Amino acid sequence: MSEFDFDLFVIGAGSGGVRASRIAAGLGARVAVAEDRYMGGTCVNVGCVPKKLFVYGSHFAEDFEDARGYGWTVGNAEFDWRTLRDNKTREIERLNGIYRNMLKGAGVNLLEGRARIVDNHRVAVDGQQYTAERILIATGGWPFVPDFPGNQHVISSNEIFYLDQFPKDVLVVGGGYIAVEFAGILSGLGANTRLIYRGELFLRGFDQEVRDVLKEEMGERDNLELCFNTNVVAIEQQTDGRLQVELTSGESLLVDQVLYATGRVPHTHDLGLETVDVELTAKGAIKVDNNFQTSEPSIYAVGDVIDRMQLTPVALAEGMALARHLYGGQTIAMDYDNIATAVFSQPNIGTVGLSEEQALERYGKLRIYTSRFRHMKHTLSGRQEKTFMKLVVDDASDRVVGCHMVGSDAGEIIQGIAIAIKAGATKATFDGTIGIHPTAAEEFVTMREAARTVGG
Ligand code: FAD
Ligand code: NDP
Repeated sequence: MSEFDFDLFVIGAGSGGVRASRIAAGLGARVAVAEDRYMGGTCVNVGCVPKKLFVYGSHFAEDFEDARGYGWTVGNAEFDWRTLRDNKTREIERLNGIYRNMLKGAGVNLLEGRARIVDNHRVAVDGQQYTAERILIATGGWPFVPDFPGNQHVISSNEIFYLDQFPKDVLVVGGGYIAVEFAGILSGLGANTRLIYRGELFLRGFDQEVRDVLKEEMGERDNLELCFNTNVVAIEQQTDGRLQVELTSGESLLVDQVLYATGRVPHTHDLGLETVDVELTAKGAIKVDNNFQTSEPSIYAVGDVIDRMQLTPVALAEGMALARHLYGGQTIAMDYDNIATAVFSQPNIGTVGLSEEQALERYGKLRIYTSRFRHMKHTLSGRQEKTFMKLVVDDASDRVVGCHMVGSDAGEIIQGIAIAIKAGATKATFDGTIGIHPTAAEEFVTMREAARTVGG
């Protein structure tokens, strides 16, 4: 009999923690997981899932307009925020129940409460102490809001999903995934929306051409304004509750809500890390080796709290790799190359592999294939939106090292392309693939002439 209450004590029932718990329990480990807020973590409760439901909801305004060209007369369409918000919450509660049952079904002991590390083999949950041979920190991240006068008046992605009133005028601050996605959601649902970003152009790190195209497409919306090289100086609340925002440009705005989407920090607050020898990075993330082990040998960490790639499928894969390594005797090195991702902006971005700029640094000479065209649907809808596709090819090996799309369903389309890229597909493989007609995706296998060659 083991001297410990559990073989593995997991802190956090989010994407990484749930996956690690289930797999470890399935491999015979005695597992406990502590969760103090919501089953399923950020993704299920205040992340991917409710966000995607809101993206669907916000697209109807355009769909109703597009329907006219197809002969439909759509009556006076009206949007009711409470219906969307409450239907979304019901769905999330259903998923919370599924997660709870899934853990129970896998034989995991679920402890609903805040966990704090006491020493390298002990965790306390609401005053009760448990011992474990190993501890896994899977506590995720938390929205970061910079310090400035009046920052107590802003909301983050945590609050936006539960607002009492839908704002008429809203300011979104940031230039990353969340800012860009919510600028699309809020404007699609009818709010006068302004996005401000401190740099030249949003989505730093993405392919430059993709960023330019998205800026152009998002700029087409009447009730959405994009302002770059701008930041907030201060916010003051008026007696009627509205917010007066002073910008670095000297402009002053009056809005109902200010949504800050300026990144997320590792969630290690009050976790008891001072009691153990767990090293942190300069950004406060938990430092781990290739097997997700921290500098304290009995303590491991996965997911957003290690800040490698803040994506649900990455946290899931890390949790699974760790559990199989510890309890299945398998060593599965995580491969962070060619992880596809989508930004659910309107239109979507789908991307896998390197941007042209990154590829240029890594390879000598590149061939760049691009295509920008009107989606067949918009020939009758009359919408001016254009789809953009791009392949970045290493000239020497002919390998496709980057693939990017801006357009409807880009997230869906890129998933399949990611398999080809992961398998090392060359441009000749793309060219030898017969398209599916008529689709937008077929354009990926019919781009014959390079738009340009760069480098070399
Ligand atoms: P989390 O899912 O955050 O889970 C951590 C859990 O630990 C939480 O439930 C928390 O309550 C719990 N916890 C923390 N401290 C304690 C403690 N001391 N005791 C007990 N419990 C504790 N990713 C995508 O791939 N696609 C998307 O479309 C996408 N959209 C997103 C949209 C938004 C608005 C946000 C914020 C994120 C989005 N993400 C998306 C990112 C994704 O949600 C995260 O990468 C993912 O949830 C990370 O999983 P995790 O297990 O590391 O942490
Ligand atoms: P990101 O890290 O993507 O973007 C943060 C943005 O805030 C950047 O534009 C950054 O600017 C800006 N910023 C940072 N600090 C400040 C500051 N002090 N003042 C003004 N602007 C600032 O974070 P998000 O919050 O958008 O999302 C967090 C993570 O969650 C994402 O990185 C992503 O991994 C994940 N996510 C994934 C989604 C998906 O898969 N579809 C959707 C939503 C989130 P700069 O670039 O200049 O540093």
